[in-house]
Amino acid sequence: SASVAQSDPALAAVLDGELRRQQDQIELIASENIVSQAVLEAQGSVLTNKYAEGYPGKRYYGGCEVVDEAEALAIERAKTLFGCDFANVQPHSGSQANQAVFMATLVPGDTFMGMDLAAGGHLTHGKSVNQSGKWFRPVSYAVRSQDHLIDYDQAAELALAEKPKVIIAGGSAYSRHIDFARFRQIADSVGAILMADIAHYAGLVAGGVYPNPFPHAHVVTTTTHKTLRGPRGGLILTNDKKLAKKLDSAVFPGLQGGPLMHVIAAKAVAFGEALRPEFKAYARQVVDNARALADSLQQAGFRIVSNGTDSHLMLVDLTPKGVNGADAEIALERAGITTNKNGIPFDPLPPVQTSGIRVGTPAGTTRGFGEDEFRQVGRWIGEVLDGVAAGGDNSAVEARVRGEVLALTKRFPIYG
Ligand code: PLP
Repeated sequence: SASVAQSDPALAAVLDGELRRQQDQIELIASENIVSQAVLEAQGSVLTNKYAEGYPGKRYYGGCEVVDEAEALAIERAKTLFGCDFANVQPHSGSQANQAVFMATLVPGDTFMGMDLAAGGHLTHGKSVNQSGKWFRPVSYAVRSQDHLIDYDQAAELALAEKPKVIIAGGSAYSRHIDFARFRQIADSVGAILMADIAHYAGLVAGGVYPNPFPHAHVVTTTTHKTLRGPRGGLILTNDKKLAKKLDSAVFPGLQGGPLMHVIAAKAVAFGEALRPEFKAYARQVVDNARALADSLQQAGFRIVSNGTDSHLMLVDLTPKGVNGADAEIALERAGITTNKNGIPFDPLPPVQTSGIRVGTPAGTTRGFGEDEFRQVGRWIGEVLDGVAAGGDNSAVEARVRGEVLALTKRFPIYG
């Protein structure tokens, strides 16, 4: 049959354009990565044709004996990777993994506790516009104003006062280690279930450079596409047999129909990659690179929220430069550096503007960048945003950096 290029030139041009964009820019979005050819191949495979409602060996469709093997591989590898007894590899996304935990543990109106979005939490941890905030009753802990570390004392007090049934540890813009043992104490003090959402840190946990939420967490959710470097998707883990049964029922038939078997196959490939020694080295390099980038940005005059990072990401406070996150994101994009505007704790600016950008090293590290390259990236960010801060025409600086970025990306090519 015809290739995309032959059958659909318009869409083929989009695919080419996005490939070129990824090849030619520096990806600093902390939640993104660059998957291997093997992951791409599995995800672009004939497994997309298969309906397989149910679980391996217990399907509602015939012809599942082959895809069963893909799901069994994904499950076994996930369990080995995170050191636990149960894995559900079917959630279509991180959000659906979180919904499944809610469905298994809460009924509408129940109270749960998560980190405030403004402090670095995720939409699905109780934001009012999200189902988690509409159907349940969220209470939020935050970070301390003096050091921007999680306020465990506040979380403990809030838990005692509000008696949440579930407590979520995890976030999308928190760069430091999370004390899962402390959260378990807090959960135990009120008989709550501790759910760790390690969407951002999963690859670092797998690589042994970030604390494993087990044995503290009762249930762990994650995405598979961030530091873990797999296809877009979700994953749920636990050691609790009773909870495991409820989680399986919550994913299917509770929330989803047919699992995406091609994505599950790609998850299996990615988990296999993460089990190799090279992935440990990758995870270590991601964190070393983040520390180098943070240092370089501080030298360029930016403030780093919490004064550094223990992970793959950091929040850069642009206030010292008098530039907002929205303007910074656009100027950096013109210079070939992709970031996202992001609120900082206690941000005086609205979410469409923000005082910060969030940056991370997972994608750059995958293409081979080391600390020298990330220090250079920090200097480029400084040069571009100093130009924005100065006002006036910044196009010469942006064009010069764009050229230098292009030269660097050519030295670290991706996808052939
Ligand atoms: N949980 C956290 C902590 C996240 O950062 C994200 C993604 O941004 C999610 C859940 C949701 O994942 P998805 O975008 O796959 O729904």
